[in-house]
Amino acid sequence: MNMELIIATRNAHKAQEIAAMIPSCHIRTLADFPELPKVEETGRSFAENAMLKAQQISARIGGMVLADDSGLCVEALSGMPGILSARYAGDHGNDDANNRKLLAELTALPSLAPFRAHFACAMCLARDGKVIANFTGCLPGCITLSPRGCKGFGYDPLFVPDGFSCTLAELSAEQKNAISHRAKALKQVVAYFDAESNASPAPLH
Ligand code: IMP
Repeated sequence: MNMELIIATRNAHKAQEIAAMIPSCHIRTLADFPELPKVEETGRSFAENAMLKAQQISARIGGMVLADDSGLCVEALSGMPGILSARYAGDHGNDDANNRKLLAELTALPSLAPFRAHFACAMCLARDGKVIANFTGCLPGCITLSPRGCKGFGYDPLFVPDGFSCTLAELSAEQKNAISHRAKALKQVVAYFDAESNASPAPLH
């Protein structure tokens, strides 16, 4: 598959996870394009935000662009933080503040653990400002009120995936990448690339 893929993110953790799961692609990220303006995430869903990012970035730079919009949805909080996951506590990407806010919100609730939740990931592939395909992945689990682990990023120390007793932040990168919402969406992206390359006509001799 050896192709160049631009990941429409400045989140180094996301980019690292995606690069590790798709080693046959040459990955570039928005860190390679510092001149590009920030895309305003004004969509009402993960899918809409992924499309906004993929369309706007691919309209500015050549090549195939993959955008990931993802976050944590907690049932007892009616799906929050959801699409606001990165900026739940105000500052974009302040993981510690976001985790503290989530714990405070859950502790204040009359309902008790387990707090059912899921991570959601929407991915969008686009080229020249046009959407090519959309993909989704979901990882169900529960929130623990006792954060554990220091691997991963974001809400990983608070999230216990179904079938596990440890948090995502206690799993190795390989273990997380075997089960994550991002991995599930990315598997579909890889299958899409494989199908496309098999469908391309054989070169004429
Ligand atoms: P986005 O960059 O607007 O898609 O926001 C992503 C935010 O969702 C991150 O900043 C994290 O707070 C959260 N998030 C998404 N995926 C993960 C994950 O795999 N682990 C932990 N937190 C995540």
